[in-house]
Amino acid sequence: MAKQIQAVRGMNDCLPGTTQIWQKVEDTLRKTVASYGYQEIRFPIVESTDLFKRSIGEVTDIVEKEMYTFEDRSGDSLTLRPEGTAVCVRAGNENGLLYNQEQRLWYMGPMFRHERPQKGRYRQFHQFGVETFGIASADIDAEVILMTARLWKEFGISQYVRLELNSLGSNEARAQYRDALVAFLEQHEEQLDEDSKRRMHSNPLRVLDSKNPEVQALLADAPKLSEHLDDESKAHFANLCERLDAAGVEYQVNEKLVRGLDYYNRTVFEWVTESLGAQGTVCAGGRYDGLVEQLGGKATPAVGFAMGLERLVLMLQELECVGQIRRSADVYVAAMGDKASIQAPVIAEQLRTDVSGLRVMVHAGGGNFKKQLKRADKSDALVALILGEDELAEGKVTVKYLREQKEQITVSLAEVKTLLQALTV
Ligand code: ATP
Ligand code: MG
Repeated sequence: MAKQIQAVRGMNDCLPGTTQIWQKVEDTLRKTVASYGYQEIRFPIVESTDLFKRSIGEVTDIVEKEMYTFEDRSGDSLTLRPEGTAVCVRAGNENGLLYNQEQRLWYMGPMFRHERPQKGRYRQFHQFGVETFGIASADIDAEVILMTARLWKEFGISQYVRLELNSLGSNEARAQYRDALVAFLEQHEEQLDEDSKRRMHSNPLRVLDSKNPEVQALLADAPKLSEHLDDESKAHFANLCERLDAAGVEYQVNEKLVRGLDYYNRTVFEWVTESLGAQGTVCAGGRYDGLVEQLGGKATPAVGFAMGLERLVLMLQELECVGQIRRSADVYVAAMGDKASIQAPVIAEQLRTDVSGLRVMVHAGGGNFKKQLKRADKSDALVALILGEDELAEGKVTVKYLREQKEQITVSLAEVKTLLQALTV
């Protein structure tokens, strides 16, 4: 036998059984954001490498070590998108969506990062994201957070996620704080681990979210970001908190929350769960007022978030919150004899036309009565429609109930429609 080729490590297939869960999740996401008036945007999976270097930042985990970057046949450096925000801004700028306009957009699709695959962390994963442009006030920060809170409600997992919130202030305030933090870290350099020492000069704020308990203990005495916030950012943050309070959305202010990407300012937030082990962040976002300009557009305020769909689906499965999954077939049509086998798909077509939403699976591959009924039983269907030569001649079919103890009945084709209508729910 020929050797089988395996999938690329960290890139998963999604099989029937699980695809239904994904479809349901995707439907809920689409419906919910539509109820806020957001519109979908689609953009390519491959972009110029420079786009991510310039936006996410050279000294970030993503750009330093996680990107799938390659040279194409023309010698251009391209990258499989590791996230959507930068691409959305690129597309917005390029298509004239952003200048002097307000946009409320969403996207969904695969992202690629070369990380160590483990539960909740893959090399191809999927994000659902929302990006808004053109609104500087905290009402829109509150709106996107409220939207995420509604999503958890829709999925039935509100009690398993909690919101962490912080403000990074203006770029100037952040730069000031950065200096104060570096001065502090330099004084305690011998107590830092290698990772933190490296970050101390390249991206010092990232030291704040070090997982090392000793580094964390040291940070208890470090200068605080909140002490360096500019007045406008303070007011913005207070307004956001007031709005969340008014809407009954609970949150914890986490002063160490800085997010790994360079483009954020003011609001940053994460929804975290204890249900997934180490990969506890299901959704993360914030404000990025400088990014549009940084990527060549006119200065445009922006705020958004991205949600990891694998982590969401894992949570739904583990917490048994998947809910009901629609049957793949309601009816299985079996045919006895050559004539009936020709007529079966014709009748099935008519049923699909007449009974909206009905899922009709027609037996294929021949075989005797027993074999066909076995297939019917194996399918999801609740009833089998049996077409025999005699019944066909009279315009009738036999309905056999597959999942309940009920006598089979023979009815006219007109009657069967009414009977099947009840199965589509
Ligand atoms: P983490 O700290 O877990 O690496 P991140 O800060 O790199 O997350 P973001 O870039 O903010 O993540 O992406 C938003 C969301 O996308 C994350 O909260 C997570 O749910 C999901 N995500 C990120 N990387 C992966 C991955 N490699 N596999 C699966 N989901 C991911
Ligand atoms: Mg990461």
